[in-house]
Amino acid sequence: MSRRYDVIVIGAGIVGNPLAVVLANQGKSVLLLERDLSEPDRIVGELLQPGGVHSLRAMGLGDCLEGINAAPCYGYKVIIPGTDDASKAPHPDNILRSHDAVLGQNVGYGFHHGRFIRRLRERATTTEGVTTLEGTCTSLIKDDSTGQIRGVNVSVKGRGEDIQLFASLTVVADGCFSKFRRDYISTPVVVKGHFVGIELRNCPLPGAEHGNVVLGNPSPVLFYAIGKYAGEEGPVDQDGNRIWNEIRALIDIPGTDMKKATGGDLKGYLETKILPQLPLGIQPSFRKALATSRLRSMPNQYLPAPTQYTTFPPGLILVGDSQNMRHPLTGGGMTVAFEDVRILGEEMANLKPAELSEDSKVRSVVRTWMQKRLGVSGVVNVLAMALYDLFAAGDDPNLKTLRNATFAYFEVGGNCVTGPVSLLAGILKSPLSLVSHFFAVAVYGTYIMVREGGILKAPFSLVRSATVLWRAASIIAPLGWKEGWAGLR
Ligand SMILES: Cc1cc2nc3c(=O)[nH]c(=O)nc-3n(C[C@H](O)[C@H](O)[C@H](O)COP(=O)(O)OP(=O)(O)OC[C@H]3O[C@@H](n4cnc5c(N)ncnc54)[C@H](O)[C@@H]3O)c2cc1C
Repeated sequence: MSRRYDVIVIGAGIVGNPLAVVLANQGKSVLLLERDLSEPDRIVGELLQPGGVHSLRAMGLGDCLEGINAAPCYGYKVIIPGTDDASKAPHPDNILRSHDAVLGQNVGYGFHHGRFIRRLRERATTTEGVTTLEGTCTSLIKDDSTGQIRGVNVSVKGRGEDIQLFASLTVVADGCFSKFRRDYISTPVVVKGHFVGIELRNCPLPGAEHGNVVLGNPSPVLFYAIGKYAGEEGPVDQDGNRIWNEIRALIDIPGTDMKKATGGDLKGYLETKILPQLPLGIQPSFRKALATSRLRSMPNQYLPAPTQYTTFPPGLILVGDSQNMRHPLTGGGMTVAFEDVRILGEEMANLKPAELSEDSKVRSVVRTWMQKRLGVSGVVNVLAMALYDLFAAGDDPNLKTLRNATFAYFEVGGNCVTGPVSLLAGILKSPLSLVSHFFAVAVYGTYIMVREGGILKAPFSLVRSATVLWRAASIIAPLGWKEGWAGLR
């Protein structure tokens, strides 16, 4: 096992598998290293946006969405819960206001993460030129004089010893808890909160075959189908077809300390604080799932991408969550990841295997990749973080104004819906378009405020308008800066 490869990829996850396939198809020898090749059981990566579907298909991997019982997702339904003001009668279905945003021709998919990974791994392991090895990468092998990364130390599963493997290029794709990033990325990972995941059965969603977002207090709750219920008792639609009925619920718990946020009683918090805010149709399945299913949680992390082509040692690239993360509220991580692999793969096609050890050529490829990726990463990441700020608005009156304005903006229809939804879906690859919609929402919000305030409150409304616009700018500008908008061409 002392063979030398053109590329070693650490991690056979969302990034590692397609990257191995794409590079091997270019005639490069690839070692794909994975610490655990059994089917993962995780609450992450279960809704793929249409932009991600396009990227996957562009790499010839669209069939990985077949045979996994994936549920189509045709759009989003955003819901404001029925009034929690005890003096008012609650809305009959506990939905005060809701709005549909449809994706048109473009379709996303919900699925069990593990099944999708299994399909991706099947493709990688059967691709000529890819060698798959089950083992944990324990460290990178560094040339002491040049700093060049020359390969990896691996603890192979089932063998008691470490082995060394060498390659011209090592790609780290070891995910959100990356063991290797800390040596190369100085920016700290920010934890915005946690998602608690449960799986609901027999649960009719207000927006069937849509991602449903309940704008709860203090923060949002997501629901989407991840598979069809196989049991006999599953409900059917009016045509007698079984409805997509394995529903993922992700409940956001804001803040870094989940124990503190829930008073040390997560189940009690979900039952007494979250459940009453949900649409009535969802409540029985939610209650049942709380009683019967395992509560799992994951941190919602943010990490802007580093400028790898200036700061990284020769022979090393980081791709995927190891180098760039955003809040999972909009389900954009896999879309960014697949677009990353697609673009990086296209750029790497210009390098022959022997050129992979030429640092200047690899650096130039990485530079081009990092510029081109901004079309999707610069939109999806900023949107995810900005929307989280709006949807977990708390008591900030300016954020609340922006949140309500977002709703009103959607209700205008036309490009006011299709534009933002196409950005979120990873189809419209234009940070400029994101900026224009974001400020259009803010301006619309101030217009509504001035209109509703009337002439007498006009001076007050104008001052408030200025603070709302300032608040909007203070959200989006730092995010755009961190995501590298300054490097846009
Ligand atoms: C709560 C939550 C929900 C999410 N939901 C969505 C969603 O609905 N849609 C979406 O698009 N994105 C979602 N994401 C984001 C998405 O899951 C990630 O962006 C995506 O999985 C990143 O892919 P990756 O290849 O970088 O990491 P992963 O897919 O995690 O792959 C990393 C792989 O590396 C392996 N590995 C790790 N360390 C080693 C080592 N030392 N040696 C060998 N192998 C190793 C791991 O076993 C794993 O297989 C969510 C994230 C969170 C936190």
